[in-house]
Amino acid sequence: MGYVITIDGPAASGKSSVSRELSKKLGIPWVSTGAFYRGLAYVAQQMKTNLDNPIALSELCFSFFFKIAATTEKTQVWFDGQDVTEKIAHEDVGNIASRISHFPEVRQSLLDHQRNCALENSGLIAEGRDCGTVVFPRAEAKIYLTARSEDRASRRAQELGLDKDILERQQKQRDIQDSTRKVAPMQIPQDALVVDTSELNLEEVVQKAYQYAVPKINR
Ligand code: C5P
Repeated sequence: MGYVITIDGPAASGKSSVSRELSKKLGIPWVSTGAFYRGLAYVAQQMKTNLDNPIALSELCFSFFFKIAATTEKTQVWFDGQDVTEKIAHEDVGNIASRISHFPEVRQSLLDHQRNCALENSGLIAEGRDCGTVVFPRAEAKIYLTARSEDRASRRAQELGLDKDILERQQKQRDIQDSTRKVAPMQIPQDALVVDTSELNLEEVVQKAYQYAVPKINR
């Protein structure tokens, strides 16, 4: 297993964009662990699985028609041979992902898949909510991104062409759900660098992450 850099934080805090840029700078892949929850949410929707049944949801995690691959560009998700990466980016899929992610059975079923991403490479960037605390507690470098909720909603509204106020309300609800659940809640890892991105552009955040991580991975 190579070194691991984790990037956690609330909805639309810039985790994917920062991971993608940092991954290019370091020449290693990055994985969105959120894509596993979003992928499962999407597959469950398509299969009409009961979203309140953790056992049925966990079984889906092992089904052959649900596949995930991490690259330097994005985390790709396939359902039944079709690339559904664009489809899982929708906010409603994110909201269902948040709803099913509190089940311990679901989290446990996805955990090994997420950890395996670090096995095949000399290094990995993993982003999500519990990457530094649960998925990779021994990661060499841990980063936690945050930003004012109105800034996060504006960014996502621009990206998706949606109403900012509705998005802000949905994101707040998702963040409350994600940070108050009993298993693996979103939280700042003890030894993490915390970066508030409200007043920073992408390049500035990437630079901070790079300067922080490089000495740690070269140790
Ligand atoms: O990061 P993203 O918005 O894609 O995540 C979608 C949802 O997946 C989150 O709101 C959260 O409920 C869940 N998630 C999680 N643990 C992670 C990553 C995502 O519970 N490590």
